[in-house]
Formats: sequence, C-alpha cells, structure tokens
Amino acid sequence: MAGDFVEKGKEMAETAKAAVFKGPGQGYEMQEFDIPDPDPGAIVVKVSMAGVCGSDLHIWRGDSPVFAAMAGGVVGHEMTGRVDKLGSDITTDSLGQPLAEGDRVCYAYFYPCRRCYQCNKGEYASCPAKLAAMAGGPSPFNGAYGTYYYLRSGHWVFKVPDELSDAVNCALSQVTYGLSQAGLQMGDMFVAQGAGGLGLNACAIAKEMGAGLVIAIDGLADRLELAKQFGADETINISEVPDVAARVQKVMELTGGRGADVVGEFVGIPQAVPEGLQMVRGGGTYLEIGNISFGNTVEIDPSALVWGSKKIVGVVMYDPWVIPRALNFLVRTKNKYPHEEVVSHDKYPLEDINKAFEEAEWQKEGAGTKVRRAVIIP
Ligand SMILES: [Zn+2]
Ligand SMILES: [Zn+2]
Repeated sequence: MAGDFVEKGKEMAETAKAAVFKGPGQGYEMQEFDIPDPDPGAIVVKVSMAGVCGSDLHIWRGDSPVFAAMAGGVVGHEMTGRVDKLGSDITTDSLGQPLAEGDRVCYAYFYPCRRCYQCNKGEYASCPAKLAAMAGGPSPFNGAYGTYYYLRSGHWVFKVPDELSDAVNCALSQVTYGLSQAGLQMGDMFVAQGAGGLGLNACAIAKEMGAGLVIAIDGLADRLELAKQFGADETINISEVPDVAARVQKVMELTGGRGADVVGEFVGIPQAVPEGLQMVRGGGTYLEIGNISFGNTVEIDPSALVWGSKKIVGVVMYDPWVIPRALNFLVRTKNKYPHEEVVSHDKYPLEDINKAFEEAEWQKEGAGTKVRRAVIIP
C-alpha cells in the first residue's frame, strides 16, 4: 500500500486512482498508482472524461479470447483531458500550436511502433504492433479509465479548439479515416449499414466529402430520424423491410438500379456483410469497420466480387492526420449536425465503473433506443 513507508532520502510520490481490468467477465477493481513525472518528450494528462464504447464492451464481456491478455492493465481508449505536466522538451502540439499545462488535448490512443514495414511507409493505422504497445510503457496509467493518462514520448497530440465542449467518441475519427480509405468522392452514392455512433457520423462525413446520396439503414426509427439530421437523404427501416432481398432491391431503386459507390458496415453484425456487398455497384467499394470481434464467420460468394469488380476495404484505427480534421469538422459543423445527440452522456464517477458497464450493456441490448453513451468522470 502506498504510504506504508517512505524510502530514506526519496520523496514519496503522490498517488491517484485507476480502474484495473480484472479480465473478461470480471469487471474492474480500483487501485492506486504513483502519478508519473513525464519524460522530456512525454505528457501527463489529467483525464476529464472517458467513454464506454462498443469495443470496450466487447473486451469487458470477453467476446474474443485475446481480450484476456488485457487483464491487469488500465484499459479504455476514448478520453479527453488537460495537460497536467508537460515534458520539458515540449512547447507545441503536433501542428505547431503553443501547448501549455492546463490546455485541453486530443491524441491517438494507440502507438504505431515506427519500426516496421507499414510505419516506414507512413501507414500508421496498419502497424501490426500498434495495439500491443498500448500496454506496458513507463506508467500504469495506460488507458482512459484512470485519473491520469501517460502520453508517451513523441506521440501525436492536438490542442482541442475552445469552441468544443468535453465529449468523447472514437467513432468520428474512425469513419473519417474509413471513408477516405474507401475513396468516397464528390457525387458518390453511399449506404450506411447501421445508424449508431459510427453510422451517424459516417452519414455526416460522407455528406461533407460531397456524397450525392446518403442512405441509412437501421432497425430503430429514432436512429433513422437522427440519421436524417446527420445528412441521410433516404432511410430504410429493417423492421419495416425485414427481408434482405427487399432491402437490396430498395437500395437498387434509390441508386438508379446499379447500387451504391460505397457501402459501409457500422453495426458489427457479420450477416450485414453479404447483404451490404449486394448493395455495392459494380466497381464499387465495401467498407468494413464494425466487426471487431474475432472468430465470427459468414458466407459470401467470392465470384460476386470478381464479376462485380468490387473492393473490400477494412480499417481499424486511423492515421494521425485524421484527428485535427475531425476536430475542425466538429467546429465547422457545430450548428449543422446535432453532434451532442451522439454523445448524450450518462455520467458515472470512476468508482462506479462496473455499474457504468452493466448499464451500458443494458442500453445496448435494446432497452434504450437513443444513442446514449456511458462516460466515466474520474
Ligand atoms: Zn509499426
Ligand atoms: Zn471506441
């Protein structure tokens, strides 16, 4: 226990709380850790808000055996905070704007290794080591579910514009990068499968990129109503059109009989993939983002890709350029899209993190139809 004894001649470090992940199905346990002093190139961030996202629920439940490896660490990847202690070498953020203690900052939660083939090509989102590097590091404050977060030396960091309120959501950056990788162009017809956090942001980003037609598909009327406010021109309600072939037919009717240039999967249901592929026009692109859990399979007919000259693009995480553009998008479209609707928060103190996850799970099971998000306030 901290405080039991003080080493002679050594100042006792101050400690702060973090929630340690006990393993899939076992929740979190509060622990105290020393508040770190940053290396010259690092930053200690005081976390002001941490999100409970769909992927955090996958980890918490243990939807894949690999998540067991995260036990014993501080997890969570969506957060916002202020610079608490700035490393002595840092004077600016990654865009050259002056950075000082107390400033609000935004950063990527994963660490490309900069020592691999992909990193050498600047394809940071594809770095095979980017996730493994999230654990370890110089301080246990490695994740969002702690009072502090240790942002390691040399990592990208961006000042948050004053116009923006504290809100956390990894979805915006993810779909910004995804639609860019999918090559969406001005005038393109776009289908969003799912109108949750990812899908709603995707509708708005596609519109801002110049999409000529945006179609949102979901099973909940409230979400589709929201999708319209986020730029969707047309919506398809799965509850009203329960038949897959009929939904594909509906997309065909809306796209001049040829299908959409880009179809994105934002629900995380494997069965959405073969359905979505049928909605892609010949030569078009299928963007896969939602299915993050390992080991789920689905049948597809590969000849449809061949004869349709269709591409499948999968993305997870993003390159660093995405963050300042996402922030700028939020400022620019502040009055155009109801951003606060995607991040309407149910707030929990850090000590109640187990309750936050249980209630977020309940929301996800369909008990709540609004796109609400549980957030932890340390
Ligand atoms: Zn790498
Ligand atoms: Zn997330």
